Amino acid sequence: MAAQKMEFQAEVKQLMQLMIHSLYSNKEIVLRELISNASDAADKLRFEALANSALYENDSNLKITIGFDKAKRTVTISDNGIGMSRDEVIANIGTIAKSGTKEFFNALTGDEAKDANLIGQFGVGFYSAFIIADKVTLTTRRAGSAEAVKWQSAGEGDYTIDAVKKESRGTEITLHLRKDEDEFLNDWQLKSIIRKYSDHITLPIMMQKSEWKEGADNPDGTKAGGEMVLTDEFEAVNKASALWARSKNDITADEYNEFYKHVSHDYQAPLAYTHSRVEGKQEYISLLYIPSKAPFDLYDRERRHGIKLYVKRVFIMEDAEKLMPQYLRFVRGVIDSADLPLNISREILQDSRDVDAIKNGSVKKVLSLLEDMAKDKPDDYAKFWDEFGRVLKEGPGEDFANKDKIASLLRFASTRLDTASQSISLKDYVEKMQPEQTAIYYITADSFAAAQHSPHLEIFRKKNIEVLLLSDKVDEWLLGSLTEFEGKKLQSIAKGDLDLGALETETEKEIQKKIEEDAKSLIERVKSTLGDAVKEVRVTHRLTDSPACLVAGEHDLSGNMARILKAAGQNAPESKPILELNPTHKLVKRLENEAEEVKFNDLAHLVFDQALLAEGGQLNDPASFVRRMNSLLV
Ligand code: ADP
Repeated sequence: MAAQKMEFQAEVKQLMQLMIHSLYSNKEIVLRELISNASDAADKLRFEALANSALYENDSNLKITIGFDKAKRTVTISDNGIGMSRDEVIANIGTIAKSGTKEFFNALTGDEAKDANLIGQFGVGFYSAFIIADKVTLTTRRAGSAEAVKWQSAGEGDYTIDAVKKESRGTEITLHLRKDEDEFLNDWQLKSIIRKYSDHITLPIMMQKSEWKEGADNPDGTKAGGEMVLTDEFEAVNKASALWARSKNDITADEYNEFYKHVSHDYQAPLAYTHSRVEGKQEYISLLYIPSKAPFDLYDRERRHGIKLYVKRVFIMEDAEKLMPQYLRFVRGVIDSADLPLNISREILQDSRDVDAIKNGSVKKVLSLLEDMAKDKPDDYAKFWDEFGRVLKEGPGEDFANKDKIASLLRFASTRLDTASQSISLKDYVEKMQPEQTAIYYITADSFAAAQHSPHLEIFRKKNIEVLLLSDKVDEWLLGSLTEFEGKKLQSIAKGDLDLGALETETEKEIQKKIEEDAKSLIERVKSTLGDAVKEVRVTHRLTDSPACLVAGEHDLSGNMARILKAAGQNAPESKPILELNPTHKLVKRLENEAEEVKFNDLAHLVFDQALLAEGGQLNDPASFVRRMNSLLV
C-alpha cells in the first residue's frame, strides 16, 4: 500500500513556520525537546507496564539512543518507550490538541522576539525538529502491538504516513539536517549538548563511544597524526539519575534550570524553586518551581501540566490537580512519594489522606518560598506578582487554613503611590495607618482609572487616609473571604454609612450636622422625585468636590460586584443604590434653589445619572439622560 498523504492542521503549519524563524538561534533545544519526549514515552511505558508487564516484550532496559551519519547528514534519536499507534501519530504529530491553542495564536504579535517568548510558553515540542531539519522521518511501534508506522514530512503543510515493519518497540526519529547544520554531525558537539540540556533525564542516553586512533607510521618512525573514531561500544552520556533524588549540594543552578524546562515544557528559566526531602509519617521529595512567566492558558480550566507525581522514581501521572490547589496552579515540578502504592489511580488519589498530607506540606513549601522571595528579593517578587498575583488572590477563598499566610503575600495598588502597580502589602498598609484609624479602607471598580478617580475618595484624599484601589475582577471574591487582617477590618468606602470616627474632629462633626439639618427638605424633594430608583437619599460625608455619589447598603452587593455577576450571566439580587448628595456643591445648591418642578426633576435625574456613570455603571435610559443634559446646556 502506498504511503498516505495528509494535511497538517492549519495551526501546526503556522507553528512550524514561526518556530523555524523565531527560534533559529536556539537550535540546541531541538535535542532537548526530542529527548524530553523520549523520556516521557519511557515513563508512560513503565507506568502502563505496572499493570501489564508483557508490554516490556522482554526488554525492560529503557533507554534513549542517539547517533549520527555523516554521509547521509542525519541525526537519529530512538527510544524503547511506549511508542505510538497510527491513530496516535495522526493525533499527536499532525494536530495540536492543547486547550487554549486558539488564544495562543490570537496572542501572537508578529514581533519575533515577543512571539519567541510565547512559543516558549506554549511548549515547543516535537515540531522544533524542523528548526534544524528539512525532512523528519519518524517510525514508531506501540508497545504490545505488531503494527508500526512511518511518518515523514518536510514541515511544509503535509506529511505522509505508511505502514512499516519495526522490530524494536518505541519511536525512532531521524532528522535530515538542513544545509549548514553540520555542527550536529559531530560526536563531541552532540555529547556536550546532551550533557548541557539533558543531564537530568533519568534514562540513560546512549551514544557510541569514541576513541583516539593513531595515524600510520611515517618513514622516520613518528606517527602521522590521528583522529577520533567511533567504536562499536555504547556509553551513557548523561548522569541518568533522578535529579530530585540527588543531594541539593550536588546540583548546580544550571541543572535545576534545565530540569525545570523539562518538567514544565517552558523555555525560560524559572523565577525560584524549593527542593526538599520530607521524612516522618509521609516520606516524599518535592522539587517545586515558580515560573517566570504565566503560561498562556493560566485561566483555561482544561489546561494541562502542573505537578508530576512519581512513586519511588516511577512516573505515575502528570497534572495531578490533587497535589496543588487551584490558586497555586502555576507551580510546576515533581513530587516523589516513598509510601503511595505504585498502582495508585486518579480515583484513589482523590480521597487519599496520605495525598492530602503531601499536598499540605507542599503548599506550605510554596508559600514560604514566596514569603522568602518577598522579603529577600523584592524585585523578583514584583515580577511574580505581575504574572501570578491575580491567581494568588483566589487563595483566601480556597484555602482557609493558610488564609493569613496568603493575605500577607497579597499586594495592592493604593492612593499612597497612586499608580496601577500593585506593590502595597496589607502589613505595609497597617504600619502606615493614621493613629486614630481602625479599618483598612478600599474601593473596588472595574478599572484602575475608575477606582482612582472615584468621588468616594475625596474625603480620604483630603485627610490623607490611604485607600486600596482594587480593580481586578477577582478582588470582589477575595474580599468576600478576606474580611480582616491583623485584627483590622477591611472596609469598603463605597458601602454603608461612612463613619470616620476619631479621624474626624469635633468641629468637623458639628459642621456636618448643621449641613444635614439645612438639607432636610432638599433630601425629601429629591427622594420623592427619584422614587423607586434609589433606596435612600442622604447627605454625604465623603465628597468634597463632587455633587453626588452612589453607595451600596452595608449588606448589599457593591455596584461593581453586581455588574460582574450580570456580565457572567448570573442573577444578582436586585439592590438599589443609596444616593448621597453634597449640599456644598454648586450644582446641588442650584438644585436646591430650583423652584420649577420640571427643571428640578431633570436636574435631580441628571445628578443621579452622573453618579451612576462615575462609578462605571450603565444608564437605564440613556436617551432621557441626553435630552435632560441638552436642555440644560442650551
Ligand atoms: P508535548 O511533548 O508538549 O506534548 P510534542 O509536540 O512534543 O508536545 O508531542 C506531542 C505528543 O506526541 C506527545 O504528547 C506524545 O503523546 C507524542 N510523542 C512525541 N514524541 C514521542 C515519543 N518519542 N514516543 C511516544 N510518543 C511521543
